Amino acid sequence: WLMHYAAEQRLACYVVGGCVRDWLLARPVGDIDLVVEGDAIALAEAWTTVWPDQLHTHPPFGTATVSWLDAGALVSLDLISARRESYPQPAALPIVQFARLADDLARRDFTINCLALQLANQPTNVIDPHNGLVDLQRGLIRVLHKRSFIDDPTRILRALRFAARLEFRLEPSTAELLQQGLPWLDQTTPARLWNELGLLLSEPSAFKALSLADEWGVLQQLCGCAWPQALNHQAQCLLPNLPNEQLAISWLLLMSQLSPNAAQAQTKRFGLPKPIRQAVGQWHALATTAAMLNTTLSAGKLDRLLSPFEPLVLQVWASTQTPLVQQQIAYYLQALRPIASQLSGRDLQAQGIKPGPEYKTLLAAARERQLDQFAAENPNLC
Ligand code: ATP
Repeated sequence: WLMHYAAEQRLACYVVGGCVRDWLLARPVGDIDLVVEGDAIALAEAWTTVWPDQLHTHPPFGTATVSWLDAGALVSLDLISARRESYPQPAALPIVQFARLADDLARRDFTINCLALQLANQPTNVIDPHNGLVDLQRGLIRVLHKRSFIDDPTRILRALRFAARLEFRLEPSTAELLQQGLPWLDQTTPARLWNELGLLLSEPSAFKALSLADEWGVLQQLCGCAWPQALNHQAQCLLPNLPNEQLAISWLLLMSQLSPNAAQAQTKRFGLPKPIRQAVGQWHALATTAAMLNTTLSAGKLDRLLSPFEPLVLQVWASTQTPLVQQQIAYYLQALRPIASQLSGRDLQAQGIKPGPEYKTLLAAARERQLDQFAAENPNLC
């Protein structure tokens, strides 16, 4: 329908960007971007009157997203009015004007991301005005012009993401331009940086990207920290047990390289959600227990010491500690934490004890005794 309608309206439409790149690399193609030389919103509206799919429009950018369910999965197509962008100052949002496909491709980040295919009835050649096909073959990431990273420093994080994901290298002059662009990261709003950083940390290649970010000086510039090689191994070992926690794991390990105050400041700066902010706070509080955990503790004492901490923080932190600490944390998480306390506040009330601050002490002491008894009865679990 789309092809027929576009031909009828004399609208030239092109599939562009990441989906062409991934199709040529024989990688799974994600969301599809369609550039329209004309009004993309009007085209999307015409589409959804015929096919009642979900429509979201973004008039200031002349873009629209149409989504539908395909075999239970939500698929979306972004329709973009071909546009030209100019940057009023470094790291600022661009000024947008409607234009032709060539202008739209020229505003993009890397040569491998500005390939296009015209939507047509017969097969057509790949449109490649910036020699992206050669770079795709050679495994190179190359910017289109010298000011690219200064205009939009988030492209530094995008370069990292593609380099790690596709196992590509920076073309040498792009590598130099990236170094020159690093100081401009400070001028970019944290929300825009996090938008890209969050994507990077959620990819399967996140830990590789962090190693590269360290090597390229991006981490130092972005949050004043490092990613030592040893953390790669630790992070990889943690993932099988915590498959949905990659972002939290990478952020915690990264923040563990900073002082408690600096780590909290970075976490707040990027506006990370409360559970991650709390996890960063707990990480540093846990560090103060390291000396105690390096001696063998009774089950009750271990439980009392570790119960204020989230299991995720305990697991990630343990991976950075001695075998004895790791053993004690594993014992706490697997054997002690799941045990429900036998004594409750209601029991104390039934015993005629008036509710008050001593409840906490009494309940904690009763739980400690209960767990010590459990450990004595189950020595094989220790
Ligand atoms: P992914 O496979 O992760 O979805 P993608 O290449 O499709 O990667 P998107 O972030 O979805 O990337 O962006 C779509 C396209 O828009 C890119 O291929 C690129 O051409 C362009 N683009 C996105 N962000 C920028 C940017 N900051 N500067 C220039 N072009 C960009």
